[in-house]
Amino acid sequence: MSFDFYMPTKIYSGENALTSASGEFSGFKHAIIVTGKRSAKLCGALDDVTGMLDLLNVKYTLFDKIGENPLLSVCYEGGQTAITAGADLVIGIGGGSPLDAAKAIAAFGANSTLKEDEIFNASIKTMLPLILIPTTAGTGSEANNYSVLTLDIDNVKKTFKNDKSYAKAAILNPKYTYTLSYDYTMSTALDAFCHCIESYLSPKSTDISSMLALYGAKKIWNAFKAIKNRPDALSDTSDLAVRAIRADLMSAACAGGIAINTTGTGFPHPLGYSLTLYSNIPHGKACACFTGEYIKYNAKEELGNRKICNFAAHLETTPDEIAYVIPELAGISLSLSNEEIERYVNSVKNAANYTNSPYVINYEDMIDIYKRLFI
Ligand code: NAP
Ligand code: FE
Repeated sequence: MSFDFYMPTKIYSGENALTSASGEFSGFKHAIIVTGKRSAKLCGALDDVTGMLDLLNVKYTLFDKIGENPLLSVCYEGGQTAITAGADLVIGIGGGSPLDAAKAIAAFGANSTLKEDEIFNASIKTMLPLILIPTTAGTGSEANNYSVLTLDIDNVKKTFKNDKSYAKAAILNPKYTYTLSYDYTMSTALDAFCHCIESYLSPKSTDISSMLALYGAKKIWNAFKAIKNRPDALSDTSDLAVRAIRADLMSAACAGGIAINTTGTGFPHPLGYSLTLYSNIPHGKACACFTGEYIKYNAKEELGNRKICNFAAHLETTPDEIAYVIPELAGISLSLSNEEIERYVNSVKNAANYTNSPYVINYEDMIDIYKRLFI
């Protein structure tokens, strides 16, 4: 038995989540609000938050420069902006990119002498308090301590995390995902599904992380059955069935985020990072295209096969169907040369994730997988 568990973020959920969480914002003098360029405004979350800060007499500075796959240099700039403004609170609103960036800004904003690359040093002792508000249902970043950043020089992803990089509160209002396109909804849901299956198979999984992984995976699988190949399936947001799907995806993504907080992710994640950075494939699709290979390799191990069968049975399906449907939903058609494949694999070959599954893939396996999928 393993019943170990730690996740210190208080989660508020539902259409009144922000009001319920108002106490989390009070008592602060100045917040820095970290967002992407458009979506926090478009979905209404930014107006809701600034309205609440005005009521509570908390001043704020908007830092809306976070792009997809957030650059370390931009997070550093955000930290300096927080220091100049005298910020004592960081509020992240957006998909995984602004939420991960908010964690880094909370570290730079509390440590004026911290240099850019020193953020990956685990001994950071203080960070500004953080509140995270997701507007995608995918990464679960609001409920874990990972901050996936992109290094400006090497164009590779590197994860920052420490004991302090958890939000004190996460606010889950599915309404904020209503403006997300069908394509991004599918991609972010695929990311969450990958978190669930990769966490469930991880040797570090516990009874609690496994429960969360199964909870999330089942909700997402059922949502896929309802909306697959129907690009207009989510457009009528007055329809209660559509709202229920949005709410299910949001709680499922958060569950996946908590599950990987215990376990980490498996090999689809690092292999997918190269597709995102070099071929511009969104993160969720980039990971999900490897799910079939992930199932196939892990089924070679007795423990892996048993876990995959349990996982599929919980979803009332078969391992083969998951291995077919998830990459099919990712829908990536990409053609790479042998040289490109070597470059894509070499840049992620040393990731720690490879040992985090019953079957441990080696360099040749990685090349074979890339060749099977992309030549
Ligand atoms: P994202 O990169 O945050 O956003 C993708 C796009 O969706 C952006 O153009 C964004 O616009 C738009 N968008 C976001 N919310 C929207 C809404 N409600 N309506 C309309 N458009 C919206 O996407 P993501 O998939 O959520 O995050 C991916 C990042 O998270 C990657 O860097 C990945 O490595 C990382 N990640 C982190 C974890 C973790 O545990 N911390 C786990 C998995 C992945 P704007 O730019 O205008 O905001
Ligand atoms: Fe992910």
